[in-house]
Amino acid sequence: MKNLFFFLFAVFFLLACTEKKQTSPSESHVNKKSPNILFIMTDDHSRHAISAYGSKLIKTPNIDEIAKFGVTFTNCAVTNSICGPSRAVALTGKYSHINGFKDNRSSFDGNQQTFPKLLQKAGYHTMMIGKWHLHSPPQGFDYWNILIGQGQYYKPIMIENGDTSELDGYVTDVVTDISLKELKKRDQKKPFCLMYHQKAPHRNWMPNVKHLNLYKDDTLPIPDNFFDDYTNRSKAALEQDLKVKDMYMSFDMKLHPDSFLNGRDSFVDYSGTKHQYKKETGTGGSETWDPVFNWKHSYDRLSAEQKKEWDKHYQPISEEFFTSSYSDKELAVWKYQRYIKDYLRCIVSVDENIGRMIAYLKSTGEWENTLVIYTSDQGFFLGEHGWYDKRFMYEESLITPFLMKIPNSNSSSTNSDLVMNLDFAPTILDYAGIEIPYDMQGASLKSSVEGNPLSRQGQYYHYYEFPHGWHKVKKHYGVRTKNFKLIHYYSDIDEWEMFDLKNDPHEMNNLYGKLAYAERQEELHHLLDSLRAHYKDQ
Ligand code: CA
Repeated sequence: MKNLFFFLFAVFFLLACTEKKQTSPSESHVNKKSPNILFIMTDDHSRHAISAYGSKLIKTPNIDEIAKFGVTFTNCAVTNSICGPSRAVALTGKYSHINGFKDNRSSFDGNQQTFPKLLQKAGYHTMMIGKWHLHSPPQGFDYWNILIGQGQYYKPIMIENGDTSELDGYVTDVVTDISLKELKKRDQKKPFCLMYHQKAPHRNWMPNVKHLNLYKDDTLPIPDNFFDDYTNRSKAALEQDLKVKDMYMSFDMKLHPDSFLNGRDSFVDYSGTKHQYKKETGTGGSETWDPVFNWKHSYDRLSAEQKKEWDKHYQPISEEFFTSSYSDKELAVWKYQRYIKDYLRCIVSVDENIGRMIAYLKSTGEWENTLVIYTSDQGFFLGEHGWYDKRFMYEESLITPFLMKIPNSNSSSTNSDLVMNLDFAPTILDYAGIEIPYDMQGASLKSSVEGNPLSRQGQYYHYYEFPHGWHKVKKHYGVRTKNFKLIHYYSDIDEWEMFDLKNDPHEMNNLYGKLAYAERQEELHHLLDSLRAHYKDQ
């Protein structure tokens, strides 16, 4: 009996070791079967502007192609809804308070561990092309070519492995041209990881001139809560600076830069018509940022030929504005139409260029064995609550698009687990067969994709950029479950919000402190406390 016990134990031990050997990625390194990684990230792309998510505004056939042969995640939250911080989280798999990049004024400590570094070490050819926005040189890449800061839509200035140059063309095309060139000339024996990160559709939404006529004569639908008055919400919702109605007539609405030149009371347009000078009255910038100067700077990057096309489109719009009078409400709607059309035109370029990337990978036979991720650095308001931009923990900016084509799989599925951008790094490492470092705070989603739901009960969020910086969204943190959300605003106020996401999906009615929800509120507080402890954010 004793011998039998010993025998069974030995068999079990051997099996356990074999099991470990088969599944542990610790000894893995790249081989012919290692999947390529194509990590596509755009900037400020709301999932409400992707047809795979049911958009009523736009068709995005090439982005949809990723969904058609992959997983559509419907509940992917970012941990801190703003450009630089979100990118730092994606690279490290760690929250902002751990990776050190809390707001856009931060500088990324490039010496820390990132998933591209781990891929490179394991034998991947790693490339970072496009928007970086982390204020320190990229590390862990065999090739990098990045925009400076936010980058420019036209004639972008890029830094290629340390050398700066100005490139002709439209940024979305330029970033794709470079990416295709580097995919072709890389060491073909190694699997690749390409971070293909577009600037579009970030503000100020300058379309490619060839797309200016899209939507021209359309009237696009306005969200039901566009005229939100922010009653039944905290002071944070009331006191922001995110309103479409306050967008700059220069930088955002793109009236001809000459119409804002100081020291003049009128200007003459290209057709010889004289117009009265309009004073810039918008908001939505930082204390030291000049919208007119920045608009002129952006406009002047167009070539003479591009300016001709540009003016042909925008001049009649400017003239219509100068010769009309609008009520406040009418002007808000007018601005919304201008905003949303330019935003969508920028996405058409993104989608076209993704089509070029997919076609190339199919032509080389690499598409099958490539893990493709499509995501944005966060969501975005497309007029909901009367807003543009992001930052708030509300659904439109918190939930980001996330589509993932699995290597060597053609099946399509929808996944509603509570995933986060914190999970990108461990997920990529897992698919590459590389050990996930113990200190990454996210979870691999491979198991979730294979049908084992993620056990996560809530998504923890923390936003920091206040009072300095843009848009005046107060500091806040909170937790989101599938059905509820609890938010705490702090710094110059101390207020809570709680929303019932099933019955109030647009978050118009704060339930915090309501007797009927007392028990639920208590549960959410406990969950929030436990997540703050778990992620060491206390
Ligand atoms: Ca962004």
